[in-house]
Amino acid sequence: MTIRTGFITGTGFYTLPNIKNVRLENVQTPFGDVSVEIGKLGEEEIAFIARHGKQHTIAPDKINFRANIYAMHMLGVERILATSVSGSLHLAWPPGTLVLIDQFLDFTKGRVQSFYPLDGKLAHVDVTDPYCPTMRQLLMDKAHEMNIPLQQGATYACFSGPRFETRAEIEMVRRLGGDLVGQTNFPESMLAREMAICYATVGVVSNLAAGMKNSSVTATEVTLNLKSLGDTIANLFEAVVCSLPEPYDCSCCHALDEAFL
Ligand SMILES: [Zn+2]
Repeated sequence: MTIRTGFITGTGFYTLPNIKNVRLENVQTPFGDVSVEIGKLGEEEIAFIARHGKQHTIAPDKINFRANIYAMHMLGVERILATSVSGSLHLAWPPGTLVLIDQFLDFTKGRVQSFYPLDGKLAHVDVTDPYCPTMRQLLMDKAHEMNIPLQQGATYACFSGPRFETRAEIEMVRRLGGDLVGQTNFPESMLAREMAICYATVGVVSNLAAGMKNSSVTATEVTLNLKSLGDTIANLFEAVVCSLPEPYDCSCCHALDEAFL
């Protein structure tokens, strides 16, 4: 059976409870080997990668984003649903809030952010809207049907980490129109677009960003706030996967049609 759907999850989510018959597959890519869990979600086969590793040992700036996305591509994956644990710049979006991300700002340093040139060709891919419109709409519709509060329209600012951001950095992001801050969604979303894979991500607020409250940001706080959300995310993703249109087509699938000079 073709594996058409992939999940990539981050901090706090190292498995998804409703994936059954899980087996581990080592996928060898030109960018490195990747351990991918393959399992069944309803009738669909799913490929699953925990981007920090199962034991949370891979730091944000050490994640092999290209290998992860290329492994999905080699397995035949056409669409990826992801989670991005984030700090919130809005008091109205406290820990536990789920947010549908629609834009990114990139403040990472030194990350390889493109597959190209590949096979001697250089692609310039459009990312005016970097997240898949089909899956974003489905996420909104299913969240509404399932009574899951899902905030919309967030710009995600990505920093290299693994340290948290300074008060001044968060103030800069706020002035630039950022809503969430995190360390892993770039270049993952960008690389998926370069492989013409649909990609959407749910921002999971784990904490208020630096300077938003009177205490510091701690990793303990971040982990604690995520514990109760695993089932909600898993159920939402399952509902989306089971509702994907057939035959499947989307503007993301045509990302490379006019990308070569
Ligand atoms: Zn798409």
